[in-house]
Amino acid sequence: MKRSPRRKKQALLLPFILVTLIIIFAFGFLQSQIKITQDHATSNLQKNYDQFVNLLEIEKRRLTPLKLPILLYHYIEIVTNLRDTIRQSLNINPQIFESQINTLLTHGYQPIVMSDLIDYFDGKKALPSKPIIFTFDDGYRDFYTDVLPILKKYHIKVMLYVSTGLVDSTRNYLTQPQLKEVIASGLVEIGAHSVTHSNLRYLNLAVAKTEILESKQELEKLTGQKVKHFAFPYGDYSSDLILELGKAGFDTAVTVDPGTTQTYAERFSLKRIRPGRTTDTVLLKLIE
Ligand SMILES: [Zn+2]
Repeated sequence: MKRSPRRKKQALLLPFILVTLIIIFAFGFLQSQIKITQDHATSNLQKNYDQFVNLLEIEKRRLTPLKLPILLYHYIEIVTNLRDTIRQSLNINPQIFESQINTLLTHGYQPIVMSDLIDYFDGKKALPSKPIIFTFDDGYRDFYTDVLPILKKYHIKVMLYVSTGLVDSTRNYLTQPQLKEVIASGLVEIGAHSVTHSNLRYLNLAVAKTEILESKQELEKLTGQKVKHFAFPYGDYSSDLILELGKAGFDTAVTVDPGTTQTYAERFSLKRIRPGRTTDTVLLKLIE
C-alpha cells in the first residue's frame, strides 16, 4: 500500500516538533541554571562585600577614641552615723543621685552597660549619640535599699562590681538573696571586683590571678550569667594584671584614672569620673 503524501508529511512533522520542543526545554533549563549560578555568584560577591564593609567599620570603631563618661559611685544613702567620716566622704545622698540622673537624661545622655560597649567595638550594635555608664563598686547593701528603686523609677541600666568575699560578710554588704533580686531586675550588669578587695598590684601575681579567677567563677555561679567585666580594687593595675584578665576571659576593666575618652586598645584600663555631689552645669562640665 502506498502512503498518501499528506501522511508522509505528518510522519516527518512529528519528530521535528518533538526535537524542537526538546531544544526549547533544554535551552530554558540551561538558562535557568545559568541564572542560578549568576545569582549565586552575585549573592556571594555581595556577602563578601558586606563582610568587608563590616570589618572596615569594626576597624574604624576600634581605632577612633570614643567619648564615653563612666561615672564611679560607692555609697548612695543617708549616712546616719556622723562619726563615720570615710562613709560620709564616699557617700552621695539619694536625692542628689536622682538629681544627677535628671540632669544627665535631660541633656540627652543615655545609660549603657559594658556589654553594649563591647558589642559596639565588635560591630554588633550601635551606641546612642551620648552614651554614659554608671558604675557602682564593692557591692554595698545600699545598692539594694537605695539605688535599685531609683534605677527602676528611671529604668536605667548600670554596672555593679562585686567583691565576692564581701557578699554576706557584714550588714554593710549585699546578701546573696539581695544580689539575686538586683540581677532579676534586668537593669544591672554584674562585674567582678576581686574576692578580698586587696590591691592586686601589691600581691604575688599567682595570688592576684586566683583573686581574678575565683571572683569570676563565684559570680557566675551566683548570677547564672557570664561575668566578663572587671573593676580593679583601688583602681590600681599593671600590664601583667591586664594579661591575666584577658586570659581569664574578661572583656573590659575599669580603673580610677580620670578621663571621659575611651579607646578599644585601653578597654582593660577604662577611665572613670567621680561625679561627687555635683549636679546641673557643674556635673555636665565635669564630664564634657
Ligand atoms: Zn572597691
